[in-house]
Amino acid sequence: MLKTMLQYLIILLDEASVAYCHAPSKSPMREGLIPLETLRKGIVFAMKENLNIQFVYPERALPAEYEEVIESIDHTKIKPESQGGEADVIVLTDWNNGATDVVDGETCIIHASRTDLQVHLAKIQELLDKVVRLNNVLTDIETFKDEDIDGYRQVLDVLSGYLIEQFKAGRMVQLNLLTDRLFLTEMNNCGAGDTNVTLAPNGCFYLCPAFYYEDPKQNVGDITTGLLIKNRQLLRLDHAPICRHCDAYQCKRCIWMNSHMTLDVNTPSHQQCVVAHVERNASRALLQKMEAEGIQISNTHPISEINYLDPINNYKQWK
Ligand code: SF4
Repeated sequence: MLKTMLQYLIILLDEASVAYCHAPSKSPMREGLIPLETLRKGIVFAMKENLNIQFVYPERALPAEYEEVIESIDHTKIKPESQGGEADVIVLTDWNNGATDVVDGETCIIHASRTDLQVHLAKIQELLDKVVRLNNVLTDIETFKDEDIDGYRQVLDVLSGYLIEQFKAGRMVQLNLLTDRLFLTEMNNCGAGDTNVTLAPNGCFYLCPAFYYEDPKQNVGDITTGLLIKNRQLLRLDHAPICRHCDAYQCKRCIWMNSHMTLDVNTPSHQQCVVAHVERNASRALLQKMEAEGIQISNTHPISEINYLDPINNYKQWK
């Protein structure tokens, strides 16, 4: 029996399954659906380990027999917009190039850099008018410089003002960059390799889709021999020397990005920390604006003032 705190199994249905986080999309060198037998084994694995399944769809339609197997178990669907239809989360892959077909009340994901957010502000506002929740995956964290802080603050401030207008109109829309932190009292990170693991079309497990798309040799076991994550505790928050002292609870704490930027999956880069803290502080400012406007949303929590943007600069206060 696997000793695990896993809660989710992410199944990539295709080599070209849509990218929904910091993971790059598919490798152009590979193509093809997950074999039906591997899909079935993945479902059995999830049932035995009591895991919730998240199926990640490609742009192309799946054969009917795949849909049949998928519908044999409770799950969450993450789909690109082109697939339309029934989905729990829709990834808008072309949101800044044309009209999207977003239906009122959906949860959507976009990928946007800080520049995209500035240039396509009207489009973001248009999306916020419709969706129930918009997740933006910031695509340029790795190149973020301290001189970019003010620019990012300003973009978030404009979006924050727009959210206030929505709230005043009675629409409690969520934008991950600004509203997630309002409701959190503890870390709500990605949890790759800790609370979730990914099954790829080649039948191998990965800490997350990014490690698969980057290099399939980075697997952590396979569906036949089982999951094998060495030193798994080193992925956890309680073994993260910086993150465990942090209250930017909305931060994704992306271990794949860490592996690139600090060469340690559990040690964050200065860039990831600063971006997360600019967002944390913008959430605090949003809360203050809400209070000034008399807007009350249940389950929000006060956010304290802090004098650092990277927790490592506060290390003398750590206990
Ligand atoms: S802001 Fe930095 S220290 Fe805080 S959770 Fe994110 S990566 Fe970790």
